[in-house]
Amino acid sequence: MLSIVQVYPELLGTYGDGGNGLVLAERARRRGIDVELVRAGMDGELPTGDVYLLGGGEDGPQRLAVALLAAAGLSSRVDDGAMVFAVCAGLQMLGSSFSVQGDDQYVGLGLVDAVTTRAPVRAVGDLVTMVEGTMMVGFENHGGETRIGPGVEPFATVVRGRGNDGVVDGFRAGRVWATYAHGPVLALNPWLADAVLSEALGGRELAPLESVADRLYESRCRALTTRSTG
Ligand code: GLN
Repeated sequence: MLSIVQVYPELLGTYGDGGNGLVLAERARRRGIDVELVRAGMDGELPTGDVYLLGGGEDGPQRLAVALLAAAGLSSRVDDGAMVFAVCAGLQMLGSSFSVQGDDQYVGLGLVDAVTTRAPVRAVGDLVTMVEGTMMVGFENHGGETRIGPGVEPFATVVRGRGNDGVVDGFRAGRVWATYAHGPVLALNPWLADAVLSEALGGRELAPLESVADRLYESRCRALTTRSTG
């Protein structure tokens, strides 16, 4: 049974990223894969899972979530082989430190060599990036600027928007993947949902799955490309 854990939706649920869990579970189910989607509330134990999903959140809830996840031992779950897919606040929390409004710097979970500081202006709008030649579409809404360490691979290169720093977006460190893109990003980019699913299943090849999401993805890419060149 593939177990997908949506982490603290009451703290990391402001930007609709809970949809990532629904998409993963549904795409697994439609292929006949035995799957469960578990909501891990902030008042309970962190359940054991194959993939932990961290969403975006506001500054205060983000600080609380990082303290709870440090206490719950997310990093030892990753050491034991679990995958993490994180978005925005989730991304910032996985790094060594991050700042929130007011410029104080807080200790992160330290799973990845990444430092987030406060940017002079908030990034709000389309976030278009390329992941190994494939377009990833989404939107961003954050006040951070993230610098990844020299050995850390970015998740994507930025075409439009800021992501980490206007050049690259997110990071991929082993089975810890992170991006600034909301959407929910796995609903907007079905190919990425399948990449996450395949990784969570230990690199298993997945049967093709046609859905309306593919057509919406293609028209969104077309619209964004036309707008950026026109
Ligand atoms: N609170 C963080 C910031 O503003 C993250 C916001 C988000 O998750 N969209 O930078």
